[in-house]
Amino acid sequence: MSGDAQGSEQDAVQSIEPGEVRLSGKNSVTASKPRFVTTGSITPRTGKSSGAKLGSASKGYTVWGTGRSSSGHTQIKFFGKSAWVKSNQLKRVAAANYTTTRGTKLRSQAAAGKTLATLPSDYTVGTLTNAKANKNKWVQVQYQGRTGWVASKDLKGASLRAAAGAGKKSYSDAAWAKKVQQNIAKYCPSIPVRVSKVKGEYYAESIPRRITLSRVGNNDPDAANIKAVALHECAHILQFKVYPSGFAKLTAYANSINPRRDGRGIEHLADCMSEKMGAKRTGTLSNGNGYIAGYQGKCTSTQNQAATALLAGKRPAGA
Ligand SMILES: [Zn+2]
Repeated sequence: MSGDAQGSEQDAVQSIEPGEVRLSGKNSVTASKPRFVTTGSITPRTGKSSGAKLGSASKGYTVWGTGRSSSGHTQIKFFGKSAWVKSNQLKRVAAANYTTTRGTKLRSQAAAGKTLATLPSDYTVGTLTNAKANKNKWVQVQYQGRTGWVASKDLKGASLRAAAGAGKKSYSDAAWAKKVQQNIAKYCPSIPVRVSKVKGEYYAESIPRRITLSRVGNNDPDAANIKAVALHECAHILQFKVYPSGFAKLTAYANSINPRRDGRGIEHLADCMSEKMGAKRTGTLSNGNGYIAGYQGKCTSTQNQAATALLAGKRPAGA
């Protein structure tokens, strides 16, 4: 969320008590104070662009807001005092976390809204607002980039340090494998996905054609890192299909066009193919941690051409 969006959101409710939004006479929504993490070092002041400096804090420092913001500045609590910093020096983060105690629905409005998504059991979600409605029977949360309402009876409080995302009990192995299969189905339909319990074990087999992926540390089948790894293994399946009777020629060619000269040309080519299938080889997970999937390095135009050919079921020129 940008500083300006935050500002306008607060401006819209400035006529009433900070932190409280009244929808109507009988249905009130209350929200907690916003929570932020600094995106760079800050020196909060008593005024917006003037006033005494109250000290400083480095990047990654967590602060609570007061609910006020204006003119591109946000008011925070800093060592017990109210202070202003530029809104673009802050990133809003979850004010509270909750874990589902059963499968439940994310709705567009409290109680009567339409269903936006179904949350599995044992799934931890954050809430930027911690807004409650209908006598605390509903809580506003963010789930996979969407904001909606979940029944409080299906939630228990979770630590602010808890990682957002699926827990161990969110998916059975079969349900997890099915979700992963759906994520690669466009390119690898009907290729079985098997679940491994060995950390870091990911591979594709040619006879029979199948993919094995570790669930260890990957409870969420829709997380970007496991999606990227699944697409990398799917790329190997597509390589097998184009070269059903042996890999030597493709291996030699892939190594000859591999700028890294690390003997892993086939792997880099699978990475390039995975990107074309929508994999994000680096990124950020829902818990805020960064990840790298695959073997790193950018794809050259020659590698991209080879990847395109293999995705089309053809041998790359020269291979
Ligand atoms: Zn590989």
